[in-house]
Amino acid sequence: MPKSCRNDNAQAQRLAALAAYEILDTPPEAAFDEITELAALICDVPAAVINFIDRDRQWFKSERGLGIRETPLDISICAHVILQSELFVVPDIRLDPRFAHFPLVTGEPHLRFYAGALLKSPDGIPIGTLCVLDYQPRELSQKQRTALITLANQVMANLELMRAHRAQATLIQELQSAQKELMHLASTDPLTGLFNRRAMEERLNQARAPGWQRGTPATLMLMDLDHFKAINDEFGHETGDRVIAHFAGICKKVFRQSDVIGRWGGEEFIVLLPDTTEDEARQAAARLHRSLRRSPLACDDYRSLYITVSAGLCGLSSDRELEHTLRLADRLLYQAKRSGRNRTVYESQQDGQHSAHTGIP
Ligand code: GH3
Ligand code: MG
Ligand code: MG
Repeated sequence: MPKSCRNDNAQAQRLAALAAYEILDTPPEAAFDEITELAALICDVPAAVINFIDRDRQWFKSERGLGIRETPLDISICAHVILQSELFVVPDIRLDPRFAHFPLVTGEPHLRFYAGALLKSPDGIPIGTLCVLDYQPRELSQKQRTALITLANQVMANLELMRAHRAQATLIQELQSAQKELMHLASTDPLTGLFNRRAMEERLNQARAPGWQRGTPATLMLMDLDHFKAINDEFGHETGDRVIAHFAGICKKVFRQSDVIGRWGGEEFIVLLPDTTEDEARQAAARLHRSLRRSPLACDDYRSLYITVSAGLCGLSSDRELEHTLRLADRLLYQAKRSGRNRTVYESQQDGQHSAHTGIP
């Protein structure tokens, strides 16, 4: 393979490895500043940097004694180090023709000494350096060299830890959204998007719990589509399903945001109306009957399919067992069916005390 190709490959590998750490252009952090501080202290030099080699710049995650955060690559000794051994030392930069003309050497701050330890990913890809700098020529002892390499390893350990934390945070987020999705699935009826029976039972029990109602009443409405079997028989089961979804859509429009609507069974629905008197609930029921009359379902053969519903409406409170409340609602619903369908019967009307309301204004 030609050398330029090898270099391109190496650069692409380096940039990919660097990008995976998501470190470029992040703010200074104590964990890295402490390492540069320690490197300068151990090597007894005035300047130290943690430096990453980007595509066309070197960028300092941490710097001490230089006062800059990045420089172009063509005046970077570190970019040169990337191609060299684990530790690269230039005892007097002014005597080295490769770097003597660099602006930081010929001008302020007149760098003379450079030592850089490679920062390598676990699979051996170099991404930057931890380097120490001085304004006068010098050498490093064997202990200082070992310490610089060890500190470079610490930089990489920090980067790896940060990456692991990010991966863990993403995983936790994914788990939480999967859990949310599962909870949604477990409580939702797939055909209508309404709460299913189990979820509704839970909410009805909550609504009855002492303290939940704070003095204001809640009302329960049990509904059953009229002559639904005939719709299935005449138009087919698929249209039957569309009728159910259509009815659910109308309910979502007719009831308030705070009302809780559920599919109780086949063509039976239930609504919990919190903070609602019987009178207010009667108005909601009348709105529903009216809306159904005005919004027939368009069938494939251009026929309009008018749907009607019968309902029973009663109070929901902690004074009465949920089972009894549901039985009462069912009795009222049955009364609505018996007296002609397409109507709602209320608790105060039960057993023929009053004539049933047709819901038709
Ligand atoms: P009524 O006015 O007395 O309520 O009569 P009805 O025909 O609505 O009641 P019935 O209980 O006789 O029939 C209900 C039908 O609803 C029977 C059942 O096959 C059908 N059904 C139940 N669930 C579904 C469903 O999810 N999709 C469809 N298409 N039909 C369903
Ligand atoms: Mg039924
Ligand atoms: Mg029915």
